[in-house]
Amino acid sequence: MKTEIINVGSEILLGDILNTNARYLSSVLNKLGCSIYYHTSVGDNQKRLKKLINLALERSELIVLTGGLGPTLDDITREITSEALEIPLEHNPKIAEEINCYFKERGITMPKNNLRQAKVPRDARILHNSNGTAPGLLIETKNNIIVLLPGPPNELKAVVEESLLPLDLFKPMDSIVSTTIKTYGIGESQLVEKIEDLIQTQSNPTIAPLAKEDGVHIRLTYKGNQQYASHYFSKYKKRIDERLGNYIWGYDNQQLNQLIIDRCAQKKLNLSTVESCTSGAVSSLLTDVSGSSKVFWGGNIVYTDNCKKEFLSLNSDIPNGGVDKDITEQLAGQLYIKSGCDICLAVTGALGPSTPHNNVSVGDVFISTILKGNLKTSKFKFRGSRETIKSRVVYAALFKVLK
Ligand code: ATP
Ligand code: MG
Repeated sequence: MKTEIINVGSEILLGDILNTNARYLSSVLNKLGCSIYYHTSVGDNQKRLKKLINLALERSELIVLTGGLGPTLDDITREITSEALEIPLEHNPKIAEEINCYFKERGITMPKNNLRQAKVPRDARILHNSNGTAPGLLIETKNNIIVLLPGPPNELKAVVEESLLPLDLFKPMDSIVSTTIKTYGIGESQLVEKIEDLIQTQSNPTIAPLAKEDGVHIRLTYKGNQQYASHYFSKYKKRIDERLGNYIWGYDNQQLNQLIIDRCAQKKLNLSTVESCTSGAVSSLLTDVSGSSKVFWGGNIVYTDNCKKEFLSLNSDIPNGGVDKDITEQLAGQLYIKSGCDICLAVTGALGPSTPHNNVSVGDVFISTILKGNLKTSKFKFRGSRETIKSRVVYAALFKVLK
């Protein structure tokens, strides 16, 4: 079914909020076999919204609108949709009663404005909203299905999951399914070179490389009868594995931090960190994993020269603003003495935009690991903003631990 998602709200266009509703709806509808052809966002403007709905009515079969179902005058989606469809709005006493109850249960008198939400296009199906007062609405015309959903993500999800999906409106048809292969240690263009012939001859599944924080992902997307998807996926995964096997670290929803904790737990290894430029970000990611205390011993942040001196019990000055191979190795060594962990990780680096020392460039990073007594150090030169470099350091450090 040709599908279009229209997100209504000036705050989206102003960059005040991230359009997470579009993403959520796309992922849900794709799984049901809807082909999403367009995502469009439009401000709370009557003329432009009406124009967009008219365009969507011509080019899409299923049109899902989000936002603008609230009680205030700037919430215009109901009115404009009814105008575009030429279906009048009618007061629905059942919705009015539900809204009244919603307020009563919370001990609040219903503001009069909220009765606007009980005015809905004639014959619209009501999609109950257990998290708010604006119900979703579904209107079927000769050529289109139009669904209106509330803007707040928790309300939208409640309406979709509790009221829209159970309608079983979506005819069983070809599904779109994806699987992701996750690589690290190879750049996007180098990766593409290695699988260029597969990409060039792709049809079903399609192959798309995507650069992410934790490396380049390759997404395979199959459209067709779902029961054949795994057959095609394994065929392509095998081919990709032959070329990129050394770089592949995971698939689909696998997360690096979870993988590290699971592997260490399996091998009964524990792990400690001493971080300078990442100031705890590595530890923080590791401890996002529930049960990480079985593996993660603890972390230290040694941000300034003085703090490093203290940690290392040094009297001499710290060279190169702490972005230094020898200092990083000493930090790892001291951590090993203090924690006695199987894996000790030390990270120093210059995130920029200024450098801590003349000998150091922005993006210079040292990562030392002691794995079962063996010390190894790598130097990296990352580029980008402070934020980008920091994220790259965190993942580089985690991958050192994974190996
Ligand atoms: P309300 O009754 O809260 O006014 P509404 O259906 O009228 O609901 P909007 O006024 O458009 O929805 O949006 C309300 C809030 O919902 C926004 O301020 C924003 O926080 C969130 N929201 C709206 N649209 C989106 C979207 N596309 N993605 C993520 N959040 C959104
Ligand atoms: Mg609103």
